[in-house]
Amino acid sequence: MDDCIFCRIASGEIPSDIVLEDGGFVAFRDIHPKAPQHLLVVPRSHIGSLNDLELWRKGEGHLLLQFIVRVAERVGVKESGYRVLTNVGRDGGQEVQHLHFHILGGQDLGDFR
Ligand code: 5GP
Ligand code: ZN
Repeated sequence: MDDCIFCRIASGEIPSDIVLEDGGFVAFRDIHPKAPQHLLVVPRSHIGSLNDLELWRKGEGHLLLQFIVRVAERVGVKESGYRVLTNVGRDGGQEVQHLHFHILGGQDLGDFR
């Protein structure tokens, strides 16, 4: 997906503040952080949203969750706590059409959404 910003970030074509990567996933800092720690976790391959889960191989969801916990540990919020969310579609407020999971932490998030 040449015109997908997160594909281009995941491939390294566009620079970003990457905090962790492995074969399947990349975590980088959100350009407009909404918390002291605000990371985005994306699959390297283009998947539009959580709705396109049929594109995932069996077991990939588990790898994603493991990766998210590793990112939380890397940025120092694993023990203090954090929030993981993914926006889907129009009503979900999804701005970038490449599946991504927000990791927010570094402060008491309260009812922040
Ligand atoms: P969404 O609303 O789609 O769930 O969230 C998209 C997120 O991507 C937003 O929090 C926005 O700040 C972030 N974002 C958009 N473009 C870029 C970019 O080019 N680089 C980075 N690091 N984050 C971006
Ligand atoms: Zn993409």
